[in-house]
Amino acid sequence: MPSTSSTGSAQFDSLGLKRVINGRSWVTILGGSRMPEEVQNAMVEAASTFIDFHELNRRAGERIAQYTGAEAGLVVAGASTGLLVQAAACMAGSNPDRILQLPDTTGMKDEILIYEKHRFGFEICYRTAGAKLKEWGLGEGSLAEQLAGSIDENTAAVAYVFSPWMSCDLSLREVVSIAHERDVPVIVDGAAMLPPADNLKRYIADGADLVTFSGGKGVRGPQSTGILAGRKDLVEAARLNMSPHASVGRACKVAKEEIAGLLAALDRFVSLDHEEMWATWRNWSETITAAGSGITGLRPVIEDGDPNRQGPTAVFYFEPDWDGPSSKDIQEKLASGDPSIHVGVGSYGDELYVSPVALEQGEAEIVAQALRSEFR
Ligand SMILES: *Cc1c(COP(=O)(O)O)cnc(C)c1O
Repeated sequence: MPSTSSTGSAQFDSLGLKRVINGRSWVTILGGSRMPEEVQNAMVEAASTFIDFHELNRRAGERIAQYTGAEAGLVVAGASTGLLVQAAACMAGSNPDRILQLPDTTGMKDEILIYEKHRFGFEICYRTAGAKLKEWGLGEGSLAEQLAGSIDENTAAVAYVFSPWMSCDLSLREVVSIAHERDVPVIVDGAAMLPPADNLKRYIADGADLVTFSGGKGVRGPQSTGILAGRKDLVEAARLNMSPHASVGRACKVAKEEIAGLLAALDRFVSLDHEEMWATWRNWSETITAAGSGITGLRPVIEDGDPNRQGPTAVFYFEPDWDGPSSKDIQEKLASGDPSIHVGVGSYGDELYVSPVALEQGEAEIVAQALRSEFR
C-alpha cells in the first residue's frame, strides 16, 4: 500500500518509504539521529570546497583533543572504525611495512584482551584489523589477578567497553593501572555514552590510551562519523592506518563534509543546555506514560537515570492481570502503521518502552495516541 505520510525527504518519498517515528533512540537501523540545522549547513558549505585533506584531518583532530582533554584526536568513520583503527594502531603502530601487512599480523603482538561480560557484536571490528580476541574473567582468583595473569608477550591491548547492559567489577582506572604496569595500552569503546557531555573527558581522565565515540548518535553529527581521542603516538598510528592512506582502514573513508558536520555537531553538543534538554525529554515521556494510566494490568512509569536506558524513558510494565495483546504484538502493530512507530520491548521483563531522545516536538502526542488505542 502506498504511504500516505511524507518522510520529509522527496528522495525517500519517491522510493515509497514510510515516515518513521523513532522511540528506540539513536539506532543505526532507523537512521541514527537527526542532524540539527547548523550541522547540515556546515556540511553543505564544505561540499563545494577543496582543502588539503591531511591538514584537515590534523586540525580537526586538534579540536577533538580540546574537547576530550586528550593529547590528540581524529575523526573516524563511525565508532566501528574507531575500534578497527584502535586495534591496527596497537598492532602495527606507525611502521609503514606493518601498516601494509595488516590484517596479516605475523611478527606483531596481536591479541586484544576482552572481559567476558564485554563480549559484543562490534568486536568483529577489532578482528577486521587482524587482531585475535582473548577472553578473561572466568578463571580462578580475583578479577585483578586474572587480568594481570592474562597479559603476556602477545598482548597488543586491553579493551574496555562501556555500553548499556554491560558492566565490569574492575573500574577503567583499575584496568588501566594493571595494564600500564605491564606497558600495555587500554582501548575504550564509549560509542553510545554521549550524552552526558562529561564522558567526552572522563575516560581519557581515567587513563584510557584511546577512546572512541559515535558521532551520529547523541552528538547528532553525520551517522557515518565517529570520534577517536587519546595518546599522540597512537592517534597518529590510527590516522596512518585509515583512509586516505593505503591501509586496513582504507575502506573506512570519512569525507570532508562529514568532518565539517561532526565538528559543528560537537561545537553544538558541548554548549547545549543538557538540563533543559533532559526536562523536555521528561515532558514527552510524561505525555507518553499518561496513555497507560488507569488501565488494569498496566503499570506506567518513567525510568529516569537508569544507566541501561537512553534518557528518561517511558515504560509500561504488563502485570499478571493484563488481558490485552502482548507487548510484542503491540510493538509489531505500531511498526506496521503509517507513520511507522518504533518502540522497544522486553529489556527488564514483560514491558514496552519508548525512549524520548530521538523524538521531535509533536511526536510524543502521536505515540501516546497510538498506544492508547492499542491498550484499549
Ligand atoms: C553504536 C555502537 C558501536 C558502533 O558505532 P558506529 O558509530 O555506529 O559505528 C560500537 N560499540 C557500541 C557499544 C555501540 O553502541
